[in-house]
Amino acid sequence: MDDLIKRAAADLSAAARSVALTGAGISVESGIPPFRGKGGLWEKIDPMEFAHIDAFLADPEKVWTVLIREMKEIIDRAAPNAAHRGLARLAELGRLNTVITQNVDGLHQAAGNTDVIEFHGTFARQRCLDCGTGCDTAEIDMSVIPPRCHCGGIYRPDCVFFGEMIPPGHLARSREISANCDVMLVIGTSATVQPAAMMPYIARSAGATVIEINPEPTPLTGDISDYILTGPAGEVMDRLVTAVEAAG
Ligand code: NAD
Ligand code: ZN
Repeated sequence: MDDLIKRAAADLSAAARSVALTGAGISVESGIPPFRGKGGLWEKIDPMEFAHIDAFLADPEKVWTVLIREMKEIIDRAAPNAAHRGLARLAELGRLNTVITQNVDGLHQAAGNTDVIEFHGTFARQRCLDCGTGCDTAEIDMSVIPPRCHCGGIYRPDCVFFGEMIPPGHLARSREISANCDVMLVIGTSATVQPAAMMPYIARSAGATVIEINPEPTPLTGDISDYILTGPAGEVMDRLVTAVEAAG
């Protein structure tokens, strides 16, 4: 693995433009469970029952009680881990331009990355289903579930539920960045949720090198990934960043 990391670091150092695509796996070491894979939330609850927009609109109280309230508690306690910090360090070194994240936990920004595309929105904000007024999730009164806006409407997180469209600006910019990078780091994503999972294919078909970091194989592994760095994101990123620093 040492040699693999050295070569991946050399490619990253030589790249004029590089981008990271991250998924729930990068936040596992921060204590946030992923949806799929070992220990994933999907082992406990049915996604379509709780994370689909139709399910939310049909019974907001249920989805707030089972999914959103718990997510808030988990995200409130979470802090960036070595993998988030590693991406911030790469940006600081001028070796990473943009992070495209499927996560809604805000940990990339907390680690110090400034160019972050929140592909599936953010959990940090809420908006009223009736009047559209927004507010910070931190300000929400959680003593009444579902929480309500002053107009009486129910709040929803500013995240993209299953069954909803990706904000068109985020999708367009992600495609453009993916098509114009030399290296794409793909970290902690099962690469199954579309259209985010398309980005590594866009990058690869435009000639980019794909570096995948994940303890488990994904549909990209053995297909388009040039480097498969097997292991938890924090540990692998530490080694990769050290190798990039050594490469100068
Ligand atoms: P996913 O849940 O489908 O897949 C998680 C991936 O992470 C798996 O491939 C798994 O092998 C890998 N993984 C597990 N532990 C890891 C570790 N320590 N280091 C690196 N990788 C690890 O996640 P997804 O692909 O992001 O797609 C699911 C959707 O769920 C996303 O759209 C996201 O919006 C949402 N989600 C977000 C959060 C969050 O904000 N932290 C958490 C759960 C789900
Ligand atoms: Zn309102």
